[in-house]
Amino acid sequence: MKEKIFSFIDNSTAIAVELETELTRRPAISPDSGGEGELDKCVFLESWLKSHGITQLERYDAPDKRAKGGVRPSLVATIPGSDTADGAPRLWIMSHIDVVPPGEASLWKSDPWTVIQQDDGDGRGVRLIGRGVEDNQQGLTASVLAALALVKQGIKAARTVKLLFVADEENGSGYGIDWLLKNVPGLFHKNDMVLIPDSGDPKGETIEIAEKNLIWIQFSTAGAQAHGSRPDQGINAHLAGADLAVRLHEELTKKFSDHDPLFEPDYSTFQPTKKEANVPNINTIPGDDVFCMDMRVLPRYPAKTVLAEIDRIKAEVEAKHGVKITYTLPQCHESKPTSKDAPLVKLLSRTIKEVYHVDTRPIGIGGGTVGAYLRNAGIDSVVWSRLEDTAHQPNEYTLLANILGDAKVMALLMVRE
Ligand SMILES: [Zn+2]
Repeated sequence: MKEKIFSFIDNSTAIAVELETELTRRPAISPDSGGEGELDKCVFLESWLKSHGITQLERYDAPDKRAKGGVRPSLVATIPGSDTADGAPRLWIMSHIDVVPPGEASLWKSDPWTVIQQDDGDGRGVRLIGRGVEDNQQGLTASVLAALALVKQGIKAARTVKLLFVADEENGSGYGIDWLLKNVPGLFHKNDMVLIPDSGDPKGETIEIAEKNLIWIQFSTAGAQAHGSRPDQGINAHLAGADLAVRLHEELTKKFSDHDPLFEPDYSTFQPTKKEANVPNINTIPGDDVFCMDMRVLPRYPAKTVLAEIDRIKAEVEAKHGVKITYTLPQCHESKPTSKDAPLVKLLSRTIKEVYHVDTRPIGIGGGTVGAYLRNAGIDSVVWSRLEDTAHQPNEYTLLANILGDAKVMALLMVRE
């Protein structure tokens, strides 16, 4: 059976190129980034799958007036497996339909929306070039090839397979996976397994199972403006803000000091980042000050514990300087990790070894990906693929060998117990 699957995939180069080409021709850019959304691309994919024998399809349209058709569509393709008992775990492969804009046009050597093939003669074979060919159409195409290898050859999957093609991954998932989890009850079962082929490394040896908790925080400090020579007549909001930034960096780092080798870096980070302009001239003491911090905290520390410590330090700085400090949280996400001993992690690790002959290791990342939505819903989810990491860059490319190789891994995942 493995030989049948592998040879089908090895002979699917033309299908992979065709699908990549047709998908790339239909730019699915979010209205947030000035595009019209995913409708054209999703409608195309739906009919393409149908004409290739993947016929059990459901569309879920998140309403969005700004987008073409007023919707942000996601699509689910179901390939029934041998174990269809109620509550039997299903294998999901989730890729996203949307792409980011091409960016600076002059940096592209070819038209971003026309896939071209190129062989650099470096022994790694043909690469496809175009916006979206890697992010996330490598994973999307690989998942489709894997499914076709079964469907076209009458091979039954061990468990029901669900290919999920979501909208709105690049701009926060509010019309994508987050919307699906909130608006389509029962779509996922608790014991389902989800592979997200949307990040990885050139060897395919890292399996992402966890994220740090993510806290983005913006502080506004109100003091009193004064002449630069008369601090006695004002309250320097910038000085208080700077004091707060330094104290938060030092004290939070000390308080939340655990290390976890799953992550890189293996500790929590508390970084002052954006700083808004205050006064335009050097000889005025600013009465208002705004700065931001980007915090990535090991999952063992709940966000509310960190925020309580922030409140304590903030109160001390307010008292010391006589200022009023408020803050907003542009982002605050927690993420439960998927266990490194979860069946999905073990099974994936085995199949990667079989296809690519590499030993895998589980890793955690800085945070803020779609995996968190599913993990927080209690569903085992891992992010993996073998890729060049050219996402969002000009001249984005994918190796044909990676599409076919990842398809083999996915097909084995579908058939193995
Ligand atoms: Zn992506």
